[in-house]
Order: sequence, then structure tokens, then C-alpha cells
Amino acid sequence: MRESQLDALASAARELIDTRFPDPNDVEGAAAMLLDDGTILTSTSPEALNPSTQFCHEVGAFAEAHKRGNPVIASACVLRESVHRYVILSPCGICMERLITHGPDVRVAVPEPTDFTNPRWVQLEEAHPYYWRNVWSTDRAE
Ligand SMILES: [Zn+2]
Repeated sequence: MRESQLDALASAARELIDTRFPDPNDVEGAAAMLLDDGTILTSTSPEALNPSTQFCHEVGAFAEAHKRGNPVIASACVLRESVHRYVILSPCGICMERLITHGPDVRVAVPEPTDFTNPRWVQLEEAHPYYWRNVWSTDRAE
């Protein structure tokens, strides 16, 4: 995986936000995932009358990857929080749970601590160091 592919993920998410939600004042988000064959999938979450039925921006891309049978190797979620300001959102716990089915090496975008608009790419196991299934890993401390 090349750094340019990772940079393209955040750009693809921003592009989807801008095309799907052209009013720059609207707070909207989108996600992008990189597959093992270089394909970038994007998705965004629809609003629902009952907010408890909404889901994460990543879900559409994750489901499409599953339909294609391609592993996800990187994921980014972006929120346009104000005009021309796009912040990186770390994957939530449920999305990390979904992504880890593709292995602990999946790279995810987290916000740079000094500038939330810049992604820092970390492996999923770094984003979730106390993953619940680690107690069953083969190299655990006894
Ligand atoms: Zn999520």
C-alpha cells in the first residue's frame, strides 16, 4: 500500500461529501475504504427519522467490499464540520469491530493531534490496543 493511496482515501471521502451535499454549510460526513486490489469505495450514512436507526458512514463501503469479496486494507472517515473544514474521525468501536474481520493490520485514519484535518495512518491494533479478543492471541502473557 502506497502513501498516495492513503491520501486518496481522505480525498475521496471529501469529494463524496462535496458532490452529495453541495451546500458547504451543511455538516455532513463520508467514508472511504481501500481494497486489496486498489479499488476505493466510498459511502455516506443517510439520516433517519429515528436517529437510533442511523449507522456509520463506513457501513456502505464495508458492505460493498463484502459483496465483492475483497479485503479492506485501509479506511478513512471524514466530517465537514464547517465550510471548507474537514476533520478526520477515528473509526468508532463498532466500525473497528467490523474492520478487524480483515485483520489487525488494516490501516485507519485518525486525526493528527495538532491538526484534526490531517490524517495519521495507524494500524487497527494501534487504534484499539485493548481489543477484547487479545486475551485469546497466541502470544499472550501467561
Ligand atoms: Zn462507526
